[in-house]
Amino acid sequence: MTASLLKGEKIVASSSPVSGSWLKLVLDETLEREQPLWNPPQRYFRGSDAGNLCPRSMSMKALGHSVPVPARVKRIFETGNAIEAVNVKAASRAKLLVEGSQQRDASYGGTLRIIRNLISDLPIAQERDIRQHFAKHDTVLDVWFAGKGKASEPRTKFIVFEHDIPQRWWKYFEFSGLRFKPDEESDDPPIFGHIDLIVISPEDGVEYLCDVKSIRQEMYRNLPPEHGVMLAGESPLMKRHRKYIEQLNGYMFSPTIDLEVGCLLFEAKNDQYQKEYWLRRDPKMQAEMLARHRVAAPYIQMTPQEVAPIPEERNPERGDEICVACNQRYICRRLSAEGCDYDEMRATDKELRG
Ligand code: SF4
Repeated sequence: MTASLLKGEKIVASSSPVSGSWLKLVLDETLEREQPLWNPPQRYFRGSDAGNLCPRSMSMKALGHSVPVPARVKRIFETGNAIEAVNVKAASRAKLLVEGSQQRDASYGGTLRIIRNLISDLPIAQERDIRQHFAKHDTVLDVWFAGKGKASEPRTKFIVFEHDIPQRWWKYFEFSGLRFKPDEESDDPPIFGHIDLIVISPEDGVEYLCDVKSIRQEMYRNLPPEHGVMLAGESPLMKRHRKYIEQLNGYMFSPTIDLEVGCLLFEAKNDQYQKEYWLRRDPKMQAEMLARHRVAAPYIQMTPQEVAPIPEERNPERGDEICVACNQRYICRRLSAEGCDYDEMRATDKELRG
């Protein structure tokens, strides 16, 4: 009786317009809809992309180019975040965590700052005073130009770093977002990244940077044997996981972190086994990473922002393996090899991706 009822229910369910695979469909659609083709342009590079070998690709990413991934891959990323959180909590309970370190940023050439938006409906004289005050600040104008890479019309949205707002005017501003503020004293290219955690050794009291990487079971099985401290560029991980090493190396050298040794902690996604690899920061790798960013930096800092030229050593038309693996190749090939401005890149992409 039960079996036939269930059988009957199944037939009814499959013919109903609100039944079937709606659950998976809605979940997938939500995860995919949340990923835009373009993010707001930024004036910094992401620390997680430190291993990118192409300044042109770096400039396009900073300008907001994004490649959405299927919902399944998005779930993999979010599971990775959850695995990282579990390890941070465990490190805290084990008293290995340098408390608050998971909120620290690795940055070069500036910092991410809170920006605030001038609220409307102020008395005209009051608003004029505020605008005139901030018109003297080059860095603020820089933010004002950010977004579409153009100066905004008078009386449109006016945003300013919280840090620059005199206390007497705080009440006239509302939270608007976060932006990178260049440090005029620094020669470093603008790079910004989030570290996972810093741990302190119970043996010698030394602090170490730690980056948690969750990876597929097959890749986990192919990891080389764990190793103790060795120069980052000499690790056997360089063969398959160079980008992770360059990221960690960049974080270890960043003026806001500045730690000599770090650990890449890999965790397998299916059975949660772990392997650890200890790395000493590598000055040669660092110099090359900064050199690539210095090539790309002027293009994302100018107004309007631009796409960098194709580097001499790259060829997106023929079998250059870095270009073949590049997410921007489809558009890179159609833009001028000498570079172009933000509007041209967006217009070309609209023809290609809609
Ligand atoms: S396709 Fe090649 S040249 Fe173009 S952005 Fe990508 S890596 Fe750079």
